[in-house]
Amino acid sequence: MNKKEIKLQYLKKIELIKKYNDHYYDKSNPLVTDQAYDKLKNEIEKLEIDYSFLKSESSPTKTVGHKPSKNFSKSLHKVPMLSLANAFTEEDLVNFEKKIKNFLSLEDKIKIFYSAEPKIDGISASLTYKNRKFYMGLSRGDGKEGEDITENLATIVDIPKVISSKDFPEEIDIRGEVFIQNSDFKNLREKFANPRNAASGSLRQKNPNDTKKIPLKFIAYTFGYEKGLLVNNQSDYIKKLNDWGFKTNPFNKLIWGVKNLIINYNEIEKKRANLDFDIDGIVYKVNDFAMQKRLGNVANAPRWAIAHKFSSYKAVSKILDIEIQIGRTGALTPVAKIKPINIGGVIVSNATLHNEDEINRKDIRVGDIAVIERAGDVIPHILSTDKQKRSKNSKKFVFPKNCPSCGSETIKELNKVTKKVDAVRRCSSEGYDCEKISIEKLKHFVSKDAFNIDGFGKKIVESFWKLNLVKFPQDIFNLDFSKIQNLDGWGKLSVQNLKYSIDQKKNISLERFIYSLGIRHIGLENAKLLSKHFISFSKFKNLSKQNDYEDLLNIDGIGETQISSIKSFFSNKTNKKVLNELDKFLVIKDTVQVSNDGLLNNKTFLVTGKLNGISRAEVKSLIEENSGKTISSVSKKLNFLIIGEKPTKKKVDYAKELKVKIIDQAEFLKMLNKTS
Ligand code: NAD
Repeated sequence: MNKKEIKLQYLKKIELIKKYNDHYYDKSNPLVTDQAYDKLKNEIEKLEIDYSFLKSESSPTKTVGHKPSKNFSKSLHKVPMLSLANAFTEEDLVNFEKKIKNFLSLEDKIKIFYSAEPKIDGISASLTYKNRKFYMGLSRGDGKEGEDITENLATIVDIPKVISSKDFPEEIDIRGEVFIQNSDFKNLREKFANPRNAASGSLRQKNPNDTKKIPLKFIAYTFGYEKGLLVNNQSDYIKKLNDWGFKTNPFNKLIWGVKNLIINYNEIEKKRANLDFDIDGIVYKVNDFAMQKRLGNVANAPRWAIAHKFSSYKAVSKILDIEIQIGRTGALTPVAKIKPINIGGVIVSNATLHNEDEINRKDIRVGDIAVIERAGDVIPHILSTDKQKRSKNSKKFVFPKNCPSCGSETIKELNKVTKKVDAVRRCSSEGYDCEKISIEKLKHFVSKDAFNIDGFGKKIVESFWKLNLVKFPQDIFNLDFSKIQNLDGWGKLSVQNLKYSIDQKKNISLERFIYSLGIRHIGLENAKLLSKHFISFSKFKNLSKQNDYEDLLNIDGIGETQISSIKSFFSNKTNKKVLNELDKFLVIKDTVQVSNDGLLNNKTFLVTGKLNGISRAEVKSLIEENSGKTISSVSKKLNFLIIGEKPTKKKVDYAKELKVKIIDQAEFLKMLNKTS
């Protein structure tokens, strides 16, 4: 990469982090997890270290928090409110101590004492007291200037309004964390993603009366400006805070040596799940104030403190139950119902246990205390359980030998290709004979890449199933709308809309139709291959008659596994009935042979934003049917950017810059001589 490209990449990351900050600090509605945010921050830091020419005033290495919101008046902090450097490993801590000793020219054997304080994941606030009275309260803002939230802070019971102790300084900014207890957050879960956002959102309400309704708490841990503070170190200061009437963290501890810090870290991490407040790490502060003063600050954080973060994707919680979920293909997936816990900003109450073998190998039981891991957007899973904490009455989990939904025998198949027994246990009933499988099949049938029926989501499938309105796919096209109109939550208009959406989708390509049937091992790609092979629905439907499965082996990409799955689909009478019934309601379009002289020949397309009544998958297949190509990003190779509702601004701007033709849905359809 040349210098220009590196700079472009760097500035892109800075823009992205600014966007994340805006949502996190100003809107109390983060776009990404803290883990993803920290990763981006590290990438920026690394680029700045590797390429000294990279500089930006908006870099997270230079800034603190976010500019104060326009909703509040602003006020300067007499002493800036800084951020904290992060440590993730023991090595980071060793380096932290080494740097301190080097900076202070201390011999290696000298013991440095640290105040180790659990890092509550809330919102920091600075409370100015003058003559022992609460005078003004500010948010951190950008560290230099905060939002004046005095009235909102005054609603918090933990914040003393008048201090009676005689040794309280003449003037002091008491600083600490405003937060919500997890038990109180339960009632706010609908409104906010996690307790931190709830605290931030509630604290920065325009109307203090709205703040008052939320049970916010305050824990004090440091100070800013002070006049008359007669304390020499952090641990004594914390004691004083208690004397003066402030709440402090009961797990604060005075510790020396990295090894001891790690022991404390591990102990607190174990307690983490059972605390009533969220902590995201432990802050270590050099205890001695004189040392702190000599160490001073770097651009946005003190040199004398560091936040030892917990791996945000692991947490400890209790397994309350183990449920067996049954998927569309009959797979029985054990799911641990856990005591809800915040893992990296997301409240987790389910964790997958993968399969029977996994439960047996790890001997996971109901009642166990477990470590749960959440990585990116995948479903959280159980990493391990603490056998020592297990009660004497705990019983080994027995995986059901019969399907919990229909009672059929469950089986582990032998994979004919690998000659191995499958780890997954499956319900042996075929398709629509098992209630749970049927529901999942129907959800798949209406899903985005299948029939994509607007307004017919998973919840509707479940409710229509219960009401006996839909048991098989064909029922969707033969609904009794007069019954639906009388249901709770439905009216004339919503029924009309539903009817319209269903009617719209009665025309479907063979490829999507095959995919929608949810045949095991037949995903989008294989459905496409099959549709090209069969060309027409009648040929596909009559496959079992012809008994010509051998022929399928000639399709590049289709193997024994898929063929055996297709065979078992067609050997089931209900499936065949479903096909015949659907045939009565639908127009299943023959597969158009892709020719190189289609209307969109040699043209490339990209879609941004939501299109009306047509999914991305459908647009893609329309483009391909007409000899065009879709590409994944805006570049010089792109000919047309199709924009829908709420397009990505960056894509549009970049397309304009590259003079790429920008068209809307109607213009696109016009290119295909279509109107809708
Ligand atoms: P920080 O949260 O890592 O550390 C500083 C803060 O720790 C202080 O301001 C204070 O509020 C808090 N704290 C709690 N207990 C403390 C104690 N005992 N002593 C001192 N401070 C204590 O830094 P930051 O600048 O507030 O925020 C950066 C972090 O916020 C990131 O690492 C990221 O995880 C998260 N973040 C996430 C997003 C997102 O979109 N998900 C966006 C911005 C920031």
